[in-house]
Amino acid sequence: MGDIDIAKERAKQAVAAAREELVEISLDIHSHPELALKEERAAALLAGRLEARGFAVERAAFGIQTAFRARWGEGPVTIAYLCEYDALPEIGHACGHNLIATAGLGGALGLKAAVSPDDVTLLVLGTPAEEDIGGKVMMIEHGAFEGVDVAMMAHPSPFDIAGPPMYGVEQCHVIYRGRAVHASIAPEAGVNALDGLVLAYQAMAQLRQHIRRDSRIHGIITYGGSAPNVVPDRAEGTFLVRALQLPYLADLKGRVERCFQAGAEGSGAELQVIWAPYPYAPLNSNQPLAQAYRANAEALGRKFLEVPVESTGSSDMGNVSSVVPSIHPTFSIGAFALNHTPGFTAVAATDGAHKSMLEVAQALAMTGVDIVLDPELLRAAKAAFGGT
Ligand SMILES: [Zn+2]
Ligand SMILES: [Zn+2]
Repeated sequence: MGDIDIAKERAKQAVAAAREELVEISLDIHSHPELALKEERAAALLAGRLEARGFAVERAAFGIQTAFRARWGEGPVTIAYLCEYDALPEIGHACGHNLIATAGLGGALGLKAAVSPDDVTLLVLGTPAEEDIGGKVMMIEHGAFEGVDVAMMAHPSPFDIAGPPMYGVEQCHVIYRGRAVHASIAPEAGVNALDGLVLAYQAMAQLRQHIRRDSRIHGIITYGGSAPNVVPDRAEGTFLVRALQLPYLADLKGRVERCFQAGAEGSGAELQVIWAPYPYAPLNSNQPLAQAYRANAEALGRKFLEVPVESTGSSDMGNVSSVVPSIHPTFSIGAFALNHTPGFTAVAATDGAHKSMLEVAQALAMTGVDIVLDPELLRAAKAAFGGT
């Protein structure tokens, strides 16, 4: 066995030895779902365990109360494992971020056991607010990825995909303001804000027939009036525009804006569009790293989807992948369920999901070993990132 194989064996064994603790943390996070930027319990739990395992931990890092940064080693190669841990309103951990947190933690524990602190600077970053807001974008702005050579995380999903496509996304909140009057006594004196929003909604519904397959437009009306006999003087909605290519995303954003304006023109209501400050970038999977991850995961018996997928979601990992070489593979969790459904919440706490999480932690640790001990891989990853 070569040095790399011996180190990978140590990494695998260290993850296996941490099984009980990783599952306990996963179940704790799963049974205490916390929304974006409110993940106090999960962040404290992970930070405490990392400290107990010999990491230097900075809590409330990068100006975010529920972010953390844990570091071990002083080596020339800096690898960051990312832990997400936020949940969704009402349906809890329906995106399985409890498994992301423990796969990232497990990957870091595996790599720590396998290589010398003189060879690696090992970071574990607690990255809050993925489902909303975009915590990683805030962390990028605060320098969290400066000096990082490689960032890695893995996301539960129906399938194992080493380099899944993920849309860039722009989110907006729209407000129409009109004039309230009695809907029966003096409707001719009113300006109906809800009509403005409904016109815009219909315009977008028609636009959707004629957009590219690698894009999405969707949204909800969040406020449509106070009483049926009062002409609504205010209506509000939230909408998302997604595309795999940034130029097309910008194009679609402009067309959606025109749908909103059409609603304002038609109804006479005043329009305000507030775009979210942190758009999510499309995922730029680093191919050499994704291939290394896949080879390691396959060596552990994981099976990858062989057909390309078109339907996908979005992540603020897209933004990280545009500043450092990154991977965000997805992994199946033992039973079929779709993300963001109550069924996924249930599966994310099962033995099958934890078996997957442990294998993925091992594969992430083994990929870390490759990056630290095989300089050619890091060179190839950086070349692919720079486009040379
Ligand atoms: Zn997610
Ligand atoms: Zn999600």
